[in-house]
Amino acid sequence: QFEELPHEKEESDNQKKTVYIAVTSGKGGVGKSTVTANLAVALARLGKKVGIIDADIYGPSIPHIFEMKKEGFQMAENNKIYPPVAFNIPVISTEFFLEDDQPLMWRGPMLNRMLNHFFNDVAWDENLDFMLIDLPPGTGDVAIDIQKLIPEAHVIVVTTPHPTASHIAVKSGYMAKTLKHNILGVVENMSYYINPVSGAHDAIFGSGGGDLVASQLEVDLLASLPIGQPQNELSHSIFSPEEEIGIAYLGLANKVLKALK
Ligand code: ADP
Repeated sequence: QFEELPHEKEESDNQKKTVYIAVTSGKGGVGKSTVTANLAVALARLGKKVGIIDADIYGPSIPHIFEMKKEGFQMAENNKIYPPVAFNIPVISTEFFLEDDQPLMWRGPMLNRMLNHFFNDVAWDENLDFMLIDLPPGTGDVAIDIQKLIPEAHVIVVTTPHPTASHIAVKSGYMAKTLKHNILGVVENMSYYINPVSGAHDAIFGSGGGDLVASQLEVDLLASLPIGQPQNELSHSIFSPEEEIGIAYLGLANKVLKALK
């Protein structure tokens, strides 16, 4: 009477599928890469296996955020390369393939090939729970091409608290919608400064931007992250779970897990 249904068994035998989460923003400098890296670390702290594809090919900053040193690649069987690892997060980035301080001057087809390599020629752990993708800012050709390459991505839109910047973030959200990606929600970064003496939260860059973007895209505001004052020796841009900003990142990771259930 309570026999297991055949299709249920099949499903549990199947390998679990990696969930792709792309992080986008309307413009550069809002903290998209910092959010990608810290969200990856927070998800890993919650026990998830996470990788990062740094698809911000013209402005790769994930290796800098993790303070990764350039070392040669280890080759896996079948000529794939093992992704370098920092904070338990395997990472691939154009930064690893560039000479120091050299600008990237490849044209479209080359970029497309590069991204295909990132997905197909890297020896990713097949059991990754999440692959975070740091997208280029904005709605330009590269951002569109990349989002087309990613089959079923969930998208997080990062914005700043000042309402005047919100329309540009909304645009990047609309683009994801047009490409039929699911928008998980909005993250407002640099929302407030934590006064080190009183602990008060001061909205020094204005407020309301995150709410505005979320309501226009008809999704939730997943987190309002404070301005970080890096003081741990781990990295200047990866926040510790003992800091208020690190706690906010754990909250964001939990919200993401809940939204994906
Ligand atoms: P983007 O990827 O949007 O271009 P970055 O993640 O590179 O932005 O961040 C831009 C700059 O702002 C970096 O110097 C980064 O360290 C800083 N930054 C980002 N988020 C915060 C934050 N919450 N508090 C303090 N500095 C931040």
